[in-house]
Amino acid sequence: MGEDSTSTDTLAGRSALMNTYAPPEVVMARGEGSWMEDEEGNRYLDFTSGIAVNALGHDAPVVRRAVERAMERGLIHTSNLFRTRPAEELAAQLVQVAFPGQVFFCNSGAEANEAAIKFARKAARERGGPDKHEIVAFRGAFHGRLYGSLALTDRPAYQEPFTPLMPGVRWATVNELGSVRQVVSKERTAAIFIEPVQGEGGVIPVPDDFMRTLRQVAHEVGAALVCDEIQCGLGRTGDLFAFQHSGIVPDILTLAKPLAAGLPMGAVVAAPHISELIRPGDHATTFGGGPLVAEVARAVLCAVSEPEFLGRVRRSGDRLHRELEGLAARHHIVEGVRGRGLMLGMVLRREAASEVVRAAREEGLLLVGAGPNVVRFVPPLNVTGEEIDQAVAVLRRVLPAVERGR
Ligand SMILES: *Cc1c(COP(=O)(O)O)cnc(C)c1O
Repeated sequence: MGEDSTSTDTLAGRSALMNTYAPPEVVMARGEGSWMEDEEGNRYLDFTSGIAVNALGHDAPVVRRAVERAMERGLIHTSNLFRTRPAEELAAQLVQVAFPGQVFFCNSGAEANEAAIKFARKAARERGGPDKHEIVAFRGAFHGRLYGSLALTDRPAYQEPFTPLMPGVRWATVNELGSVRQVVSKERTAAIFIEPVQGEGGVIPVPDDFMRTLRQVAHEVGAALVCDEIQCGLGRTGDLFAFQHSGIVPDILTLAKPLAAGLPMGAVVAAPHISELIRPGDHATTFGGGPLVAEVARAVLCAVSEPEFLGRVRRSGDRLHRELEGLAARHHIVEGVRGRGLMLGMVLRREAASEVVRAAREEGLLLVGAGPNVVRFVPPLNVTGEEIDQAVAVLRRVLPAVERGR
């Protein structure tokens, strides 16, 4: 699994890292495919993929080769003072597979949504005046932790310590057209933000007909429909983009997590009627779209947009879905399974997601919660059938203990 430093000091005790996360004690040291190994040599089947980031698994040969190609040219970064070929080619590739338009590159999901807010507001303002600045978001949504994206994130506890956030946010409920009609208007609405499959909110696919209705409403009021596919995009659901399931095309698409296989990268794809209004100075980032990350993203996009690859994601997703349904039939604590492709949530009858995650980890399976009562399954998209069976076998062992309340 590659070379390593020979440091012998332990990480026990107080960490110098700020207390923003609550990780378990294990210290991860290596990775290969769907597996990680900790410093003590324990192996884990990784169904977190770094939260839907490592779509091709750890140490993927195509990623390694892309990094090497970039490093052979010797350019990690040039800044946006200069054009480089990987970013140009990646952008061309993205608009080809998503929809016609132009692309802005940044460094994370939240940054992609912040840029999308700015682009949508600029377009709305130019055509409808300064009142046309409101953004509609949905109950349960997660769009990031910066001041605009946090304002669109339905988590009062994450927001309250940091108010005031970005003003002009209106809330609606998925599948309730009336709640949308109540908050949109031609005069005020600049954009409607939606995750086609809510991720952090509990792995909840938005029904296709509601996606089509939103497309229609956005059109009627002259607002940008923004699909946040930071988690559900790039093959995760078995379609290259989750919006394609409903047959709609958004005005803006935001991407990040798996885009550069774990190197930090985000992207905003905007349709021409928005992108043509963007001028030098409207937005910028020092690191965005550098030649190293863009070369890696090109390799990821090539891999995940292959029809055969997507077919395999759908088959693996069906298999995992079926197996999890089987667990639901045998274990009362499991209420059901939802999601699409390899983005699945096991819904529990009580708030025991963190207990399941901990018990599974102790048995060598890494999972992540999506809210207090949902356990999320986001394995690498090239996970094998055998690995799926191994994961299910672990759950079969740990669910009875969680059920008994240990
Ligand atoms: C993770 C996530 C974000 C935020 O991405 P960061 O890279 O953590 O800023 C935004 N939207 C969705 C749907 C996400 O899953």
